[in-house]
Amino acid sequence: MKETLIFGHKNPDTDSILSSIVVADLEANLQNTNVKACSLGNPNKETQYALNYFNVQAPEVISDVSSDDTVILVDHNDFKQSADSIKDAKIYKVIDHHCISGFDTAYPLDFTVKPFGCTATILYSLYKTNNIEVNKTVAGLMLSAIISDTLLFNSPTCTPADKSTAEELAKIAGVDINTYGLDMLKAGTDLSSFSSEELINLDAKQSEINGKKVIVAQVNTVAIDDVLKNQQDIESEITKVIDNKGLDLFVFAITDIMACNSKAIVLGNCASSVEKAYNVKLENNVAFLEGVVSRKKQIIPVLGENL
Ligand code: MG
Ligand code: MG
Ligand code: MG
Repeated sequence: MKETLIFGHKNPDTDSILSSIVVADLEANLQNTNVKACSLGNPNKETQYALNYFNVQAPEVISDVSSDDTVILVDHNDFKQSADSIKDAKIYKVIDHHCISGFDTAYPLDFTVKPFGCTATILYSLYKTNNIEVNKTVAGLMLSAIISDTLLFNSPTCTPADKSTAEELAKIAGVDINTYGLDMLKAGTDLSSFSSEELINLDAKQSEINGKKVIVAQVNTVAIDDVLKNQQDIESEITKVIDNKGLDLFVFAITDIMACNSKAIVLGNCASSVEKAYNVKLENNVAFLEGVVSRKKQIIPVLGENL
């Protein structure tokens, strides 16, 4: 029998990749051993740091699924963020922490969605309810995912459950949350090797908001102005994407993980919606977004009210 494939969203982040690996362990403990963690892209530098630290191999990268595949979706449910042929596959399970969007299936399924800051927080609760022991490596992977998704508890998406889960996991993993967490996040801010085209694709999510086609991409940094040095080049790459995909809006959020602010390069015929949404003026296509670090809580829904 073909293995059930476990994967997170395209442009995978730390939660998508590490939670897929963790779900494979969880399923095996639930006597479902015919599973395989994979991903819809290579790990980013932050994720790779966590994989190296806990000595775990990156999952196999797959490009698509087909009608004879059974899958478990982690860290997403929106088909637009999934494998291109996801509607042909049999979805066996979803474990996610995002709003439900663009999702429908022909079969009943096991669907677990909780309003936590990270998929891994849900996974830890599943280990607990099933009385399964969490080993040091798995604890480290779940901890890393929570640190990533909550920006070390600084994101407004962080819930008390994420924090207390991370504290328990850090004990099992034997790491100091702040030291390890900052090192891991900083590993993800090394953007020096990326072209502008790669930068705007590192963590890009396309959505449809009030009938408008929107991409919100995000990078983490400790020096926003270093990224903006290449603004012209970044803008020309964004313009290409807008033309190719017929987008109404492209927001490229450059987030300072230490100061917990963002500057966004905003282009597209709906660019003024960002001025309205945040009560700011775009200067040279850039908006300063004070206190904004979360696309999910502070960008997508705010745009939704103003597009
Ligand atoms: Mg994610
Ligand atoms: Mg996540
Ligand atoms: Mg993210």
